[in-house]
Amino acid sequence: MVTDNNIVVVIGAGASGLMAANVLSAQGKKVILLEKKHQAGLKLRITGKGRCNVTNSAIKQEYLKHISSPSFFASIFDNFSNTDLINFFEKRNTPLVIERGGRVFPKSNKSLDIFLALVKPLEDNPLVEIKKNCKVNHLIIKNRQIQAVETNLGKITANNVIIATGGCSYASTGAEGDGYRLAMEVGHHIQEPLPALVGWRTYDGYPRQLQDFEVKNCEVILTNNDKKVLWSKFGDIYLDEYGVSGPVILSLSRDMAEKLDRGEKLFLTIDYKPKISKEKLAEEIKEVFAKRRTEDVSSVLRKWFAKPLIEDVLDKCRINSRTMAKNLTEKQLHSILWYMKERRMLVVGDMGWKEAIITKGGVRLDEIDNRTMKSKKIKGLSFCGEVLDLDADTGGYNLQIAFSTAVLAAQKI
Ligand SMILES: Cc1cc2nc3c(=O)[nH]c(=O)nc-3n(C[C@H](O)[C@H](O)[C@H](O)COP(=O)(O)OP(=O)(O)OC[C@H]3O[C@@H](n4cnc5c(N)ncnc54)[C@H](O)[C@@H]3O)c2cc1C
Repeated sequence: MVTDNNIVVVIGAGASGLMAANVLSAQGKKVILLEKKHQAGLKLRITGKGRCNVTNSAIKQEYLKHISSPSFFASIFDNFSNTDLINFFEKRNTPLVIERGGRVFPKSNKSLDIFLALVKPLEDNPLVEIKKNCKVNHLIIKNRQIQAVETNLGKITANNVIIATGGCSYASTGAEGDGYRLAMEVGHHIQEPLPALVGWRTYDGYPRQLQDFEVKNCEVILTNNDKKVLWSKFGDIYLDEYGVSGPVILSLSRDMAEKLDRGEKLFLTIDYKPKISKEKLAEEIKEVFAKRRTEDVSSVLRKWFAKPLIEDVLDKCRINSRTMAKNLTEKQLHSILWYMKERRMLVVGDMGWKEAIITKGGVRLDEIDNRTMKSKKIKGLSFCGEVLDLDADTGGYNLQIAFSTAVLAAQKI
């Protein structure tokens, strides 16, 4: 099909592939951008619930705390930082705003604008050819040098190829783990891909009517079978028919993905009142129920719980909603305290690839030169984006990884 050997083939027109193509063409290089889906940037367009949290404004030291391999990423970030990314979009008439927690969004609140800022300079650019519905099936290597890629539309020869195929979450966007297979076929090793930034399923979830109910300012505590605390964090969560999700759980899922995958027995506790000690709360419960003795239990519970949650509290504590406060037994009072602070829910899994925001794991970083993003095994082969064993918290950090690694990979071709 194509035989020009001075071209760079970029596999995948997602966040990182689009950025790589921009940088390459700006440097005067010919680019063939291959995308297996009918459209480019499908995942990018749904990021940030359609608003695209494009990066985070945190300073470098803070930034690196949110990244899985800060030592690998630090110099890549120096080369193209969050400030550089913000300037990149502003120069393309896509103004950005900084929100709570340093999250950066397009001012228009439309992820489409981020996509357009990346794709427009490529369209009608004589140096760039975007081939849609073009899936790379194999890399062709000779004497440890990339020669070509084999696609469903034929063979394309190239001395330089960038793999920007993403991970394997939200497979409908094209991220189906192809990059891992391509990398493995030519001798790379893969850190096992695991769903991360994803909700967790618990043995006893919440009633359907509580779906997406937000619990603010709670503490999530993860313990093992011996009740040893493995992880804890304050913040907000969402209850779910099958378990829990929301910001704190997403962080948890990233930090504890391996433990869950190994099948370790894990328990989640939601402390609804983390600022009050168990002893103080026990006293408070006794006092309040004693004072409001002629009210029914549901109305007294409103002191601590939002209305939609009360049915579940009563159910789990096995209390009839019509019971008068004065008729509650010691055991029932204690069970309310247990629900608020101590209830342990057995974790049975995560919500899976369909809901995972990112993939943890990927092409092993010790096989990639972080000064160039080039493979240490195959000449002419580079990697960028989520295909790498590099991941981060929510807050715009993952897209910054995609963009920073893409810029460096492209610059060093
Ligand atoms: C719902 C959701 C919301 C998110 N929101 C945010 C957010 O707000 N902020 C943030 O920082 N991160 C967010 N992320 C994560 C972020 O989208 C990813 O980390 C980022 O898109 C990774 O970029 P990438 O280029 O590596 O991969 P992708 O964007 O997944 O792009 C990979 C591309 O490669 C193509 N491809 C794959 N295999 C082949 C093949 N064999 N041949 C040709 N093409 C191929 C795919 O079709 C795809 O277009 C979100 C993710 C999801 C799922």
